[in-house]
Amino acid sequence: MTGDFRVSVLRLGHRRERDKRITSHLGLTARAFGADEVILAGEDDDSALETWNSVSERFGGALECRFEPKPMSWLRRFADSGTVIHLTMYGEPWREVTSQIPKDKPTVIVVGGTKVPAEVFSIANHNISIGNQPHSEVAALGVFMESWIGPIEESTKFAGGEIEVVPSERGKKVVNREED
Ligand code: SAM
Repeated sequence: MTGDFRVSVLRLGHRRERDKRITSHLGLTARAFGADEVILAGEDDDSALETWNSVSERFGGALECRFEPKPMSWLRRFADSGTVIHLTMYGEPWREVTSQIPKDKPTVIVVGGTKVPAEVFSIANHNISIGNQPHSEVAALGVFMESWIGPIEESTKFAGGEIEVVPSERGKKVVNREED
């Protein structure tokens, strides 16, 4: 891992009504598994950005999030200097290829919602499947990020929040930093 390594997640094809919850969960999953940025594309939706910002405020970290009106132009430009990973059921098996993907420069993980433009398959440096059955962008992202980035619980990624969860066998234990 080098200093230039940074992970963005690009969520293509968001539909404001139909995808509200799954897009919200996708951004939270991206954050929890170590993404630095979530980029929303498709229909603009302040409520998704508000949810992600509010969770970061309460639970810490510096997740950036924004809406991108021209995701394909953005992706083409990004590919000039960064790594593009596309999660798709048609891609190569994650267990065989994930360990070979370098962590040496800005990287974007692209996930779809509605039909993904065919060009994404050719722009991507890696088209990766989490099994070859159709399931969910949230599941695909969680499995991929955990296998590629590894555990992040011990890192400083979530510093500065109001609340920190203390893992416990039963019940809910938290440290409320606002009271410090
Ligand atoms: N109908 C869409 C299409 O034609 O691509 C797929 C919809 S699927 C519910 C939404 C997204 O979940 C996909 O674009 C992909 O990023 C992700 N996904 C679903 N199953 C996957 C799998 N087996 N492996 C990797 N990603 C997957």
